[in-house]
Amino acid sequence: MFDYIVVGAGFAGAVMAERIATQLKKRVLVIEQRGHIGGNCFDYYNEQGILVHKYGPHIFHTKNKQVWDYLAQFSEWNLYQHHVMGYIAGNLIPIPCNLNSLKQLFPSEMTKQLTSKLINQYGYGAKVMLNDLLASNDQQLIQLADYLANHVFINYTKKQWGEVKNYRELVDYALAKAFIHISLDDRHYPDEYQGIPRYGYTKLFENMLLQPNIKLLLNTDYRELITLNQHSKQIKFMGQAFTGKLIYTGKIDELFDFSYGELSYRNVEFKQHTFTKEIYQSAATILYPNDYDLLRITEMKYLTGQQHPYTTIIEEYSKQCSRHEVPYYPLPTQDQLSLLASYQELAAEYSEIILTGRLANYQFYNMDEVIALSLTKFAQLV
Ligand code: FAD
Repeated sequence: MFDYIVVGAGFAGAVMAERIATQLKKRVLVIEQRGHIGGNCFDYYNEQGILVHKYGPHIFHTKNKQVWDYLAQFSEWNLYQHHVMGYIAGNLIPIPCNLNSLKQLFPSEMTKQLTSKLINQYGYGAKVMLNDLLASNDQQLIQLADYLANHVFINYTKKQWGEVKNYRELVDYALAKAFIHISLDDRHYPDEYQGIPRYGYTKLFENMLLQPNIKLLLNTDYRELITLNQHSKQIKFMGQAFTGKLIYTGKIDELFDFSYGELSYRNVEFKQHTFTKEIYQSAATILYPNDYDLLRITEMKYLTGQQHPYTTIIEEYSKQCSRHEVPYYPLPTQDQLSLLASYQELAAEYSEIILTGRLANYQFYNMDEVIALSLTKFAQLV
């Protein structure tokens, strides 16, 4: 028998399983419905031999040294700084928008005026929210904010979420987070630690999970083996009372059989194309807010540093999410957050269940946030 059961072999579940097995020396069963470990970070070599990220490009970045040091136990790292461009009105501009972006978008005299106004009013290095620019007294800065809102943010948000019920709330949410960086720093992430596991994410997960105390069950939906008794709040494993702890990283609404209704998500369809040339585009990722139906294109070799005569790109198209898919993006709207709160109250009644990860918390977490959360949950367990 097992001391702990972990549902999900993504980062949230793998960190918990690894810590429990190696630090507490307890027996752990990891149940994963997919045919592989790694959750959404899973990577593999495609038919042409190019290393690709199956569920969209994953760049590891963090300010959290504890997380960086923790992961260093399981992989060497290629140091990598991600660059993203946006295709705006026929020009490629750095994203997030910065002073170089202005140079690509506007005539040189106008760019000079905007640059000196931004530096004088906010200081070099500042990140200025578009909403603050819109509220300023300077007509030229208001026009700048308006231009960026319309050409960079609003249409992308519309593409990303589609015509969902609370579309306006989502646009306001995106605009409230939109900023311009008064800087020439073209990097997409400002974090101190950034990189890609040298031998891929899947190899890193193997190094975490291939432990004598961990048993891995792939291709298995946990609901085939585990049931919850809503009256006694007990967990049953294969029909027997389970007295250990259940660490759950799947969807929180699914854990309670969608009893209050389903939480909504948006998903992405990934289309891979391989070309018989070394390089396809001029940056790792290019966003298309206003043109075509796709959201963005990422060329994998920029991330992995792989040398190969061919190259593979991944196109991303936003789409609705059905109940049977592993979902990607939770909707940050008030109605969904209230539904989440109802499920969280229910979960609190089960003292033997620990929730961690993006699906159990219904949050868009980056990898480092998920790892930090699971390390904290483990510390609380100890
Ligand atoms: P997951 O990786 O989703 O793992 C959960 C696991 O639980 C899955 O394997 C699932 O199959 C399994 N599971 C669910 N239900 C069941 C069930 N009923 N029975 C058994 N198993 C089940 N983060 C970054 O830091 N950098 C990036 O560049 C980045 N890019 C991203 C790009 C995209 C398109 C997306 C969607 C996310 C991106 N992220 C990125 C976020 C990153 O994917 C997550 O932070 C991370 O994968 C979360 O790990 P997790 O373990 O919580 O979830």
